[in-house]
Amino acid sequence: MTTTKKISILGAGESGVGAAILAKKQGWEVFVSDFGSIKDEFKNELTENGFNWEEGKHSEDIILNSDLIIKSPGIPDKAPIIKKLKEKGIKIISEIEFGGYYSKAKSICITGSNGKTTTTMLTYHILKKAGLNVGLAGNVGKSYAKQIANDDFDIYVLELSSFQLDDMFEFKADIAVLMNITPDHLDRYNYEMQNYVDSKFRIIQNQTNENWFIFNYDDPIIQAEISKKEIKAKQAPFSLNKQLEIGGYASEEQITINTNNKQFIMSIHELALKGKHNAQNSLASGIAAKILEIRSESVRESLSDFVNVEHRLEFVAKVHGIEFVNDSKATNINSTWFALESMDKPTVWIVGGVDKGNDYNELMALVKEKVKAIICLGEDNSKIIEAFTGVVDTIVEAKSAFEAVSYGYRLARKDETVLLSPACASFDLFENYEERGNMFKQAVRGL
Ligand code: ADP
Repeated sequence: MTTTKKISILGAGESGVGAAILAKKQGWEVFVSDFGSIKDEFKNELTENGFNWEEGKHSEDIILNSDLIIKSPGIPDKAPIIKKLKEKGIKIISEIEFGGYYSKAKSICITGSNGKTTTTMLTYHILKKAGLNVGLAGNVGKSYAKQIANDDFDIYVLELSSFQLDDMFEFKADIAVLMNITPDHLDRYNYEMQNYVDSKFRIIQNQTNENWFIFNYDDPIIQAEISKKEIKAKQAPFSLNKQLEIGGYASEEQITINTNNKQFIMSIHELALKGKHNAQNSLASGIAAKILEIRSESVRESLSDFVNVEHRLEFVAKVHGIEFVNDSKATNINSTWFALESMDKPTVWIVGGVDKGNDYNELMALVKEKVKAIICLGEDNSKIIEAFTGVVDTIVEAKSAFEAVSYGYRLARKDETVLLSPACASFDLFENYEERGNMFKQAVRGL
């Protein structure tokens, strides 16, 4: 006689609730537990589906007697419940790993320190417009597990963070995409960069020579790691500097993609997404699409009509000839580097918030070249002021998005740009980066 296997799901957000639905469908006895409070929409969904669930606690008598645990990526390994589960040797996996047990769909898995969401959305856009039966999941869209339970697709585009990858073991990406690796989230990796690099490289685990690995050829950390590894998948790197025989590259004028003995060429000026970092994102998505043999005409159209997600170098408005750009999602130095790099007019730069260990020297050359004034938007701006005093003549401090925008409007002239690209997290003055971006946009629209 077989007994029903027990599964506990820790964290009841989009992914946890989706995992619960799939687990139930597959005959598991399901328990959902969230140490915080659960949003009403998810509570209702759990109740409607007849789940056994709790919030504000973790009932150890049930959880520690499970056969399998699905953990939300937000829960760190040092949480007491995870430590206890590990001591007992109970297997802990992510929602994506669990979904993979029950789906035969192909997957394009996208990770990196920056550019994940943009590249994921762009790839999804290309595949969808080409008529593929494609799902969008991971950090964006609806739960992967829930989509598998309801109406499984033929192929998924999955945005994966390092936290999700940490709890993936057997899952295999048919096409793995690694955008870049720069220091981020080191607090979750014992402040060891190599641990974070290892986590990102889990994107290629289990791949065979039938699969593809698309990666940033120009990234020194990725290059160093590849030289240490035996990569089984077919490699399709992309570069902004080197003309690659397989993969893709961008010049000042065009992008070129070489796959399956075919060449795809498109003018840089036709790309919907502007700036060098976005050329990388377009290359990565374009290579994935060409590997799937999507028609060039269709890829070209999608790369040119894609509308980017909010808060990523988003054009807000032009007021009296001054352009306002919202890049609130830039929460680290690398993403702000690309934002400044793509500025082609004198720039008033709004920066600051909660610094995750920034080295502002990395931006020095670009700031000297492009920035005419700095507006600090944070609780404690001392590090920024110290770094740029003597480099930029005007440095002022603002305590709200509204104040920052009024300073920007005063300091910028016609044909100049006011750029919000904070290089910092937002939670000193705002709820999250979305709120920061929205308040910035509201203030601009009120000018
Ligand atoms: P993620 O999902 O990895 O956080 P996003 O696509 O949301 O990435 O973009 C986050 C920030 O990084 C934005 O400020 C965006 O302009 C910038 N960015 C986008 N693509 C790249 C890239 N390829 N390299 C560096 N920065 C990027």
